[in-house]
Amino acid sequence: MSFPPPPPPQPSIQQPPVSANHSPTVSSKIPSSVMSSSVPTNEFASTNSNPSNSTLPRSVYTLKPTAQLEALYTIIRDKETSRGDFLFYSDRIIRLLVEEGLNHLPVVNKSVVTPTGSTYAGVGFEGKICGVSILRAGEAMEQGLREVCRSVRIGKILIQRDESTALPRLFYSKLPSDIASRYVLLLDPMLATGGSAMKAVEVLLDEGVKEERILFINLISSPEGLNTFCNRFPRVKVITGWVDQGLNEKAYIIPGLGDFGERRYCE
Ligand code: URA
Repeated sequence: MSFPPPPPPQPSIQQPPVSANHSPTVSSKIPSSVMSSSVPTNEFASTNSNPSNSTLPRSVYTLKPTAQLEALYTIIRDKETSRGDFLFYSDRIIRLLVEEGLNHLPVVNKSVVTPTGSTYAGVGFEGKICGVSILRAGEAMEQGLREVCRSVRIGKILIQRDESTALPRLFYSKLPSDIASRYVLLLDPMLATGGSAMKAVEVLLDEGVKEERILFINLISSPEGLNTFCNRFPRVKVITGWVDQGLNEKAYIIPGLGDFGERRYCE
């Protein structure tokens, strides 16, 4: 079975206008009924900015915006959250994202015989996969992938901004030698301008990976980054947990969570 045809490129992508000067103190607008810890609710209550999939590029898939998901994001966005809690709750979101990514891999028919002697007509994964993390923050997502894909091979790419050109530059890559025949889950928690992610995709394409075999998985995206990335690589599927409001003048995502790597490794 071949990989499903990619969605056609979106001719125009409707995104809310994005200002470069968002206040760094954007507040959550959860209704007060939900802020009360004594009132249980199973409604998704947020009016935060995760847009519906219909307003996103067609190659973008978001997690189902449940109240639980928003609670997890609220914890990791909170500047008062301890490093231990940041690790724990960001890992929970990463696990959900990896599971969602795997939902987009193709399967082939596969029959098995159960212990009752019956035949079960099911499916099996079609191809081999690997992960590729964009260093350093992407490394934080490797364990989440290992937890659901036993013995998965994981490559690494280090991209940094070249100060003389202001462009992202490849500093290091170590990739599985047979990566061209694999589906690649590209891991980086924050899609800000999209520069590093696009450079990483270029590296993968140079290695012979087919564009439609790349899934880019991240926790938070900016609309600007999504637009730029998806216009350039419309066949790469993007699995993102949340689409935020935009970028500030320092290219931080707003409201965001600050520097993911700092919060994960340093605080
Ligand atoms: N990388 C981060 O860690 N945070 C941002 O807001 C943008 C890029």
